[in-house]
Amino acid sequence: MIQFIFLDLDDTILDFRRTEAAAIRATLSTLLAREPEECVIARYREINLEQWRKLERGEVTREQLKTVRFERLFAEMGVGASPSMAQHLYEKNLSTGHLFIDGAPSLLQKLYGKYSLYIVSNGNLSVQRSRIASSGIARYFDGIFISEEVGANKPKKAFFDACFAQIPQFSPDRAVILGDSLTSDIQGGINAGIRTCLFVPHEREEREDIVPDFEIRRLSEFLDVLRLLNAEKE
Ligand SMILES: [Mg+2]
Repeated sequence: MIQFIFLDLDDTILDFRRTEAAAIRATLSTLLAREPEECVIARYREINLEQWRKLERGEVTREQLKTVRFERLFAEMGVGASPSMAQHLYEKNLSTGHLFIDGAPSLLQKLYGKYSLYIVSNGNLSVQRSRIASSGIARYFDGIFISEEVGANKPKKAFFDACFAQIPQFSPDRAVILGDSLTSDIQGGINAGIRTCLFVPHEREEREDIVPDFEIRRLSEFLDVLRLLNAEKE
């Protein structure tokens, strides 16, 4: 029987893609005094993703990541804007956004009271705290684990060990993680020895070396995954 459910926040519960695009657009329009072209926003996404992968591999620190992504972007664009000012504005714009992924509020309502729910996020601490508060989802969770506070990032086993240590009567056999990232959520669940479910609403990232136990296209399908897991013999 499953009792403990770990949920990723960005692009699993909250729609980070749309919120991020709006925040980046607002930040760049302020700094450049003009509307940024779509290709500039797309390039920011690519640079940002590269930096997050480096963070997962321990090649950059969180502090470096925050400004390096803007440094790179401005260098490529040949503009002299301040990366630290960009970061400051971006965080401010991001903190107020909380669009939901389709089906997320309904999934949380259905799981609430039946399972112990936990958020596991690598996102920025102050941004995540204010997004969780403004979206009103904190009440569903028994614990909110944000890597900046935990002291390690997903997919590190140390991150999950620190979370598990705070959960009374925790047992990995009765736990599952649901998230949209193969490299942080699924690899993290594998490292931690718990069941894994990948949420793939868009294009699937091809990684043959990281294999989730389950894969869903819509959040409502997670209830079927739980039914299957709960039907397994102990
Ligand atoms: Mg995510």
